[in-house]
Amino acid sequence: MPFLQINSHHFFANYQALRQKIAPNNPEKLAIVLKDNAYGHGLKEIAQLANNVKIPSAFVKNTKEALEIHSLFQHITILYPQTLPDEALLKECLEKPNLYFAVANLDFLNLLPKGAKIELKVNSGMNRNGICPTDLPLAFEKIVQNQLELVGIFTHNGFGDDLGSEFFTQQDNFLQIKKESLKLCENFHLSKPRFHSLSTSGALRIKNSPKNQLDSPELSDDLYRIGIGFYGYLCADLILEIPIRLQPIASLWVNKISSLSLKKSQRIGYSGVSKLDRDAIVSTYDIGYGDGLFRLREGMELCTKEGFKILPRVSMDCLSIQSHHQCLCLFDNVWEWAKAFNTIPYEILSHLKPHIPKQIL
Ligand SMILES: *Cc1c(COP(=O)(O)O)cnc(C)c1O
Repeated sequence: MPFLQINSHHFFANYQALRQKIAPNNPEKLAIVLKDNAYGHGLKEIAQLANNVKIPSAFVKNTKEALEIHSLFQHITILYPQTLPDEALLKECLEKPNLYFAVANLDFLNLLPKGAKIELKVNSGMNRNGICPTDLPLAFEKIVQNQLELVGIFTHNGFGDDLGSEFFTQQDNFLQIKKESLKLCENFHLSKPRFHSLSTSGALRIKNSPKNQLDSPELSDDLYRIGIGFYGYLCADLILEIPIRLQPIASLWVNKISSLSLKKSQRIGYSGVSKLDRDAIVSTYDIGYGDGLFRLREGMELCTKEGFKILPRVSMDCLSIQSHHQCLCLFDNVWEWAKAFNTIPYEILSHLKPHIPKQIL
């Protein structure tokens, strides 16, 4: 069987490095993003590692993910609670005091029952999810009217990876949103919600930048939503020169199904697109694009960690490699795969299907 090996030592080292750079004096501000099966790494497995280092807050995609790990965190926010049409799961989530619903539109405020705990998402310039800042008063009215509990107010800065001023413009916009929210809290006699806006690259950047020293603790962020950093990657523009060493935590291993001794110029797989340039042993291994691996095809060249050539095309459930070994490592760092497919590590990782067995090292 194939398996995804999770290196817990790398995870703990990443945690220490991120904590040191982002919140050395307030480790509780470091939250972990576990959405989409922990970026393909295994939700329960990564949640357990996060629990080992006492990370108090987590973010998940939907109600199902929240319930799977609800006992491991003090605070869990469901980022996309409306994406699973399952009333029973929703009801169960509503009964758990540590589960919060992200609210990205005003209508959802009318759908949630009394007592539901929410984190209100406000658009600060990414122009993707969230209510318009000018609708804040209306949102507060509905929250009070419907007796919802306002746990947090957040936004998502979509420019953390890029050199340029937009990142800071969005931070300024969120600062205004925070000020307005504090006023509204006072008017409506609500206690201060927690504020958060930054993911891995943004959080590292702000700590790295002398420009953004907020002097009022009330207005500083209470939380950093760290995803990709925990998994060992940083996708920010190199020109930002963010000084941190992170190590990928996942490596993907495959086992041999069968071997053939082939002659020079014999062709392999669908349409025979791979052709041997010498006599060689070629074996198939037990993973394919049906397991979420990207479909390597003609013109793409990738090798295993050991240096054996992967022979396109990848099939749905298997792939061919010029090797006779029983067990091989397809990657312990997905940057090569991301480059070959002109994408980012996030996409290669989150594609990996949950059924791939996990082995914690
Ligand atoms: C995915 C996500 C994050 C984490 O981003 P990384 O770049 O992986 O750190 C943070 N916040 C929200 C709202 C997200 O959806």
